[in-house]
Amino acid sequence: MKYLDEFRDPKIARKLLDEITAAITKPWVIMEVCGGQTHAIIRNGIDQLLPQEIELVHGPGCPVCVTPLEMIDKALDIASRPNVIFTSFGDMLRVPGSKKDLFVVKSEGGDVRMVYSPLDAVKIARKNPDKQVVFFAVGFETTAPLTAMAVWQAHQQNIDNFSMLVSHVLVPPAMEALLGSPDNRVQAFLAAGHVCTVMGWEEYVPIAQKHKVPIVVTGFEPVDILEGILMAVRQLEDGRAEVENQYARVVKREGNRPAIEVIRKVFQVTDRKWRGIGEFPRSGFALRSEFEKYDAEKRFALGDISVEEPPECISGLILQGLKKPYECGEFGRRCTPQTPLGATMVSSEGACAAYFAYHRQKDDSVEKN
Ligand code: SF4
Repeated sequence: MKYLDEFRDPKIARKLLDEITAAITKPWVIMEVCGGQTHAIIRNGIDQLLPQEIELVHGPGCPVCVTPLEMIDKALDIASRPNVIFTSFGDMLRVPGSKKDLFVVKSEGGDVRMVYSPLDAVKIARKNPDKQVVFFAVGFETTAPLTAMAVWQAHQQNIDNFSMLVSHVLVPPAMEALLGSPDNRVQAFLAAGHVCTVMGWEEYVPIAQKHKVPIVVTGFEPVDILEGILMAVRQLEDGRAEVENQYARVVKREGNRPAIEVIRKVFQVTDRKWRGIGEFPRSGFALRSEFEKYDAEKRFALGDISVEEPPECISGLILQGLKKPYECGEFGRRCTPQTPLGATMVSSEGACAAYFAYHRQKDDSVEKN
């Protein structure tokens, strides 16, 4: 297939569904790791079209959803200070901290700006030498090359009024932690294609072998997802646990070497907390000591902040594939995209937002074929 239309072709999708139905003999639980895939699945009704035996559960691959509440509160603290221009991707402006969000800080007079790239934040710093410009660096391996490049540029250009609040997270250690949990239900993964575009898929091989779990690198169009599910089902039915690459038109085994190079120059691997889930060892990036002057936590002398998640929000369980959004008592009641209680309702990649946008309720499951 060469054209985007072909990856949305209903006839090809039907054929793949038939092949999945023919291949399956028993129930399987498959997790799509990426929130972008969750939205594609719900938007296209793929979960309802699949045979009853397949349960898709939604993974932790939504960068806004897994950014810890403490980090949001640190962002709010910095953004509220005078002489600061605080920059972020748009979704982060609406994520609730323990008391307010960045939009509220903006309405209270804070200079909070949405940017499309961290390199734009560096430009803002260059144009405003009398202000401190901070970028909120969230996201997976997909966004890390650009944030690393922004620090590298600031370093090369001797821009001293730029810093970053870094909350990058890494997908493979989270998958490994989920598989090691006593509550784990996941029997196969659709790995996030965009992450593998940067990092390749070699690092998934030991995970598949150790946990005996098929991992299929998968794209984002309906035909990609159905083909990824078919490849996972065939492995499960054959008793194989390998890494396969459905997204070969974009992803190479070794990834994007120059992007990996810039990440390694600027970041080092560190333990990270994931919102609602907990801390995973070696699951995030932090600035290397050579670049610590760009670390906003140090520049603004932010100490540790301890905060409680709203007890009614079960997004941590949703991000581990243990619950569905409609199992939350607040879904569609107190919690809506206009009045979100948790990040999974705010983010354009959040599972709760997907279920809300496409009116997905528990009773929909009876419509499966
Ligand atoms: S519906 Fe709202 S409160 Fe419930 S889990 Fe989702 S984000 Fe949290």
